[in-house]
Amino acid sequence: MLHYHTIPVTAFQQNCSLVWCDQTMDAAVIDPGGDLDVLLAEAKRRGLHLKAIWLTHAHIDHAGGTGELAQRLALPIIGPHEGDQYWIDGLPQQGQMFGFPPALHFTPTRWLHDGDTVTIGRETLHVRHCPGHTPGHVVFHAPQVDRCFVGDVLFAGSIGRTDFPGGNHQQLIDSITQRLWPMGDQTVFIPGHGPESTFGRERRSNPYVGNT
Ligand SMILES: [Zn+2]
Ligand SMILES: [Zn+2]
Repeated sequence: MLHYHTIPVTAFQQNCSLVWCDQTMDAAVIDPGGDLDVLLAEAKRRGLHLKAIWLTHAHIDHAGGTGELAQRLALPIIGPHEGDQYWIDGLPQQGQMFGFPPALHFTPTRWLHDGDTVTIGRETLHVRHCPGHTPGHVVFHAPQVDRCFVGDVLFAGSIGRTDFPGGNHQQLIDSITQRLWPMGDQTVFIPGHGPESTFGRERRSNPYVGNT
């Protein structure tokens, strides 16, 4: 079975998630934006074997700790979609702008595309490309436990910002309505910031995408 534990990291309180297979205790870390010592202590406390870094997108609060963590533990970096290459290239400037510690440059081991799968232990998650907040944003869907890790695509009561370079409001709405909603109203999503919610609840009450 797939388990997860979410830890808010950095001054942006970004929801970094440890996800693992309870048969093998192999784990992936989704969006290690920073506070690596906190993440590693939690992984150790739970007896997890960290095997990979998965990225939803390359904003500093999500990807800032990636280079260092990958180097320290020799982990592969899976994702995001190559549309975010310029955000990866811009991590040093993003860090300076928002007062982050210097981010180590990295090159993803594997870019992700719509319809791909990623595996941890004996668990498989499905990848959907959800551009709009950034061009290369992806989400990780685990239908076996009705969970989806959506990064900054959708929040409880809100949606991702689209006023950054490469952002596109209509594209974001399409990503949400055409790629997230079909996962089902019962699906609990883990957003990049703030509390969890379900797609059904957002479909009913989210002012940006309600009644869609
Ligand atoms: Zn973002
Ligand atoms: Zn974010």
